[in-house]
Amino acid sequence: MSPRYPAAAERYEQFRERVWAAAGIIVRAPGSRFLPDELEIQARWFGGEYGRCFQGSEGEPVEIVQFGHWNRGAGPDFTEAAVRIDGVLRRGDIEVDPDVRDWERHGHGANPRFNGVVLHVFADQPALGRVFTRTEAHGNVAQVLLPQYSGLQGPPDFLPEAFPGRCRAPLSRMDDEEVASLLVSAAQFRLRRKSERLGAMGRATGPEQALFQGLAEALGYRHNKTSMAVLAQRCPVDELAGLDGPAREARLFGCAGFLSPEIGGGACGGDAAPYLRRLWDRWWTMRDRHEPSRLRALAWRGDGTRPLNHPHRRVGALALLLEKWEVLRELWEKPVNNSEKVVNKWLADLSHPYWDRHYSLGSKPTPKPVRIVGRDRLRDLLGNVVFPGAIGISPDRWRDYLGLGGVASNQKLRRAALRLFGPDEQRRKLFTRYYHQQQGLLQIFEDFCLEDASDCRDCPFPEQLAQWRGAEAGPSPNGGQAARAGAPFSEAGLAGAGGTASPADSAYARVG
Ligand code: SF4
Repeated sequence: MSPRYPAAAERYEQFRERVWAAAGIIVRAPGSRFLPDELEIQARWFGGEYGRCFQGSEGEPVEIVQFGHWNRGAGPDFTEAAVRIDGVLRRGDIEVDPDVRDWERHGHGANPRFNGVVLHVFADQPALGRVFTRTEAHGNVAQVLLPQYSGLQGPPDFLPEAFPGRCRAPLSRMDDEEVASLLVSAAQFRLRRKSERLGAMGRATGPEQALFQGLAEALGYRHNKTSMAVLAQRCPVDELAGLDGPAREARLFGCAGFLSPEIGGGACGGDAAPYLRRLWDRWWTMRDRHEPSRLRALAWRGDGTRPLNHPHRRVGALALLLEKWEVLRELWEKPVNNSEKVVNKWLADLSHPYWDRHYSLGSKPTPKPVRIVGRDRLRDLLGNVVFPGAIGISPDRWRDYLGLGGVASNQKLRRAALRLFGPDEQRRKLFTRYYHQQQGLLQIFEDFCLEDASDCRDCPFPEQLAQWRGAEAGPSPNGGQAARAGAPFSEAGLAGAGGTASPADSAYARVG
């Protein structure tokens, strides 16, 4: 008897969803437009449909050792891949296009972000004449023309961003406490490294300048981190402390290279004009002393960043943090009972008449107010800068750090959780709830996944987990790896890392 319509289709649909869910899923944003050609080829490529072994355009053997991660942002399509080309293992990015000519059509050949591409994969090329793939740095990129493919099947509704790793199985056999202890220890190791860096900077330039530069870097995100660091060095915190608020802003924006006579002269018009005029009037009086030469101008990147994170707003946020410097210093020096309370208070306090309503200097006002520093960024400032600095002064601050909530998921975190926990959504949630758990996951991801070029085969982490468990079961609560990873901290800190008394540890039971 044939199945009833549409019962069989529904059954198949459920089956399909289960299969894709098992690979760890990223659901496409509602309303995002499906680009059939390119996306389909990429989905098939990443799903391994074309296989791993190819012949390159020069006749050389090309083996995909590791497909890498699917890049959801600007830049090459797949990052952290490993490809053996003519017997030589190369790590880098892979670009997948429908046509070899898309490389130049899309401007990749003039874009330094594509300098790390080790393989250009495409499904079509001109019938006559060879088209080479070259980078902005004049590197020749190996090419693979995909075997004939059929466009009959549509792509899956869910596209995997990363595949579960070999360590997923041993991790799934560990109980929550064991995994928690592993993450706590990795987080503590990461925190200690950040603390050491801030300590070294503090010994060279003074603790407050180190804190200031650390905050500036964190506000710069990935793209503008260095420019923000240099800006903090060109505008030292002790010099800014001697200025009033408007002069501080003018100095920062001027040294950043964002002020000009045109901007100050009202060229932007609208409600931005009075604010820009004020900035220019103050900058004009100090310009001779502080304006860097054209050759030393900072290179800001606004491409690929959300309007909310425009470099102008980041500098505005840094100026605003200076208004609260005393509160920041107190936070650095004195324990807090509840880190999240601090975040909430700062969210309420950090406000600016211009930046609450504008994306950049001279932009039109936004329809609704936009926070100059959001909750996630505040947690990052605390978790990446303030607590690492504070813990260098007092190891007891580890407990403040443990209570800090996690940030909303991001690309790296998602990949790390998918690789380690696979489809176990409950564990992915349980172990990304707090900031330290997220940091622990990122540490493991960076230490193992990003170092691996064997598609997990040669990664030592899965085998090492058995030893971790053995150490956990050992006689001394502080005698295992967890304790060793936390050695530089005090016994109180170690108890938090390896024992069961930390606030975050008790939270595992609640969530689980
Ligand atoms: S590379 Fe190692 S740590 Fe990463 S997913 Fe594979 S086995 Fe796990």
